[in-house]
Amino acid sequence: MNFAYTLEQLEFQQRARDFISRKMAPEVEKYDRASIFPKAAFREFGEEGFLGVIVPKEYGGLGLGTMEYCLLSEELGRLSAGYTHNGIFQTQKMITMYGTDEQKERFLPGLASGKLHAATAISEPGMGSSFKKMKTCARKEGGVYILNGVKSHINDAAEADVMNVFAQTDQGLTVFLLEKGTPGFKLTRKLDPIGLRASPIYEFELEDCPIPGENILGEEGKGLVVFITTFNFSRLGNASAFLGMAKAALEEALDFARGRKIGETRVTDFQGIRWTVAELFTRLEAAELLRNKAATIEDEGGDSSKLSSMAKFFCGEVAVDTIMAALRITGSYGCYRDTPFERWLRDIKALEIAGGTPEIMKNIIANQILKEVTF
Ligand SMILES: Cc1cc2nc3c(=O)[nH]c(=O)nc-3n(C[C@H](O)[C@H](O)[C@H](O)COP(=O)(O)OP(=O)(O)OC[C@H]3O[C@@H](n4cnc5c(N)ncnc54)[C@H](O)[C@@H]3O)c2cc1C
Repeated sequence: MNFAYTLEQLEFQQRARDFISRKMAPEVEKYDRASIFPKAAFREFGEEGFLGVIVPKEYGGLGLGTMEYCLLSEELGRLSAGYTHNGIFQTQKMITMYGTDEQKERFLPGLASGKLHAATAISEPGMGSSFKKMKTCARKEGGVYILNGVKSHINDAAEADVMNVFAQTDQGLTVFLLEKGTPGFKLTRKLDPIGLRASPIYEFELEDCPIPGENILGEEGKGLVVFITTFNFSRLGNASAFLGMAKAALEEALDFARGRKIGETRVTDFQGIRWTVAELFTRLEAAELLRNKAATIEDEGGDSSKLSSMAKFFCGEVAVDTIMAALRITGSYGCYRDTPFERWLRDIKALEIAGGTPEIMKNIIANQILKEVTF
């Protein structure tokens, strides 16, 4: 496997970095504090093509792969994991892989251009890590499914034009495309999370909410397959956001430390600091290679579940350690809210839980390993 980035990938990443630093970075503080979706910037991000990174060209996207999605998520993550808006890419991936031609034509061009916004609704007040306790259900009446239930912790539920909603039917777990304005959809609460705040989080109710049969995504009862395949992909976006935050924190810390002297000694000349830097960069390099191996398997059409889970778990651990150490390297500088360290700290803790906890990642990894091992 070759993990070197191509020139095109590096150019794409640089273009994203330029856009994000020009258009998003100046206002990140405002949107993070108020927990508001930066709608105008994302519309422009879509118009520039970035939101269509994985959308096929015939539907207005760039038709690129998982690796480019990872590089994009890494750049958004450098700013804040709240800017990665994984619900958009998850929904695009679900529709691209499992949608009908009509669904693709209806949703993909808008999702690629930023005209439409999307979210993922799985979790409920009583269930996050396992589908077994999901209470949201759908009963079929003619050609329509009537949904009832409560969903919680849902990023961008109020802002989304289309949401992939998981519910149980007689046939089993099923994914529905819920469109804005559908009767029976009621926001009940805006939550106040510690991190990912630029993707506001909500609880909502579905009360006799009618969804036409043509809005089922994939086959009725086959929701678990949709979930596993598309979350293998989106967990690499999570892993990349971790990498982006960790790299940005380390750069910020080293910029500061290089310029700071304690007596006659620069902070970066202390051996304790130099060894810390060496260890942090080594672990970051390993984490990036793991992410890239998983992304390569995804792009080659293989089963990435073990490596994607490893990437989310390990990049998360590395990011937590790196950001904590980076903050320490700056002394008092990083302890104030006018530096980004506080936002990165809040974001990494929230992102460890969102998209699947470290324990769930380790369960998936162990299941795959123990299944594979033959004595
Ligand atoms: C900031 C944020 C954003 C989110 N955004 C979304 C979203 O947009 N859409 C959405 O659907 N959901 C979203 N979620 C929900 C998220 O996916 C769940 O919170 C997560 O899956 C954990 O579920 P839970 O909170 O119910 O924890 P629980 O499932 O109650 O877990 C509690 C603890 O038990 C551990 N645990 C659970 N099961 C096992 C097991 N089998 N083995 C070992 N340990 C176990 C967990 O790791 C955790 O430590 C978001 C959450 C957060 C915090």
